[in-house]
Amino acid sequence: MEKSEFKIKKTVVALVLNDITEMDTDVIVNAANSSLLGGGGVDGSIHQKGGSNILDECKEIRSSRFPTGLPTGQAVLTSAGNLKSKYVIHTVGPIWKGGFHHESEFLEKAYLSSLNLAFSKGISSISFPSISTGTYEFPTKEASIVALRAIKNFVAKQELISKVFMVLFSKKTYEIYLETAKEIFK
Ligand code: ADP
Repeated sequence: MEKSEFKIKKTVVALVLNDITEMDTDVIVNAANSSLLGGGGVDGSIHQKGGSNILDECKEIRSSRFPTGLPTGQAVLTSAGNLKSKYVIHTVGPIWKGGFHHESEFLEKAYLSSLNLAFSKGISSISFPSISTGTYEFPTKEASIVALRAIKNFVAKQELISKVFMVLFSKKTYEIYLETAKEIFK
């Protein structure tokens, strides 16, 4: 399996080529949509492998806290059902609309909301997919810059989260993130 590690203060940030549903970190992050009721890509795999408890919790969060849907950039936490992780954090990345609709700000917010929520739960390891770069069509290079900068800035200010994985699903995506990581973490 492809893997590259970078150290930021006391935290290891690792890029891996893998399926995020195979990760045994305390948290895995879902690139959800605002309905919180499931979708394709990462979302579909998490619900399929994790089982119906995750969807039941999402429905409860929808009806009690977000009747009109989870806003872009925000994050919520559920248990992880049959998955190896303890929790799933569901966040909504922006849909790419050409780059002039604050897409980068919303993408940064999705990463930071997830990290803040994980931190508040006292977890020490977390796995992210490449949020927004599938169905939501955010260009991968730009997304990798936003993602790795957000992670770098966050982890440098804390010591609780000791391991952050970016889990990339194709060799091409992995290579784009690796090229960006070499710049940002140098
Ligand atoms: P979004 O709607 O936010 O774009 P997608 O799930 O469509 O989310 O895609 C986000 C990224 O996750 C894409 O690069 C896609 O190839 C990748 N991906 C899809 N399934 C998985 C998986 N099981 N594990 C890790 N990454 C995945």
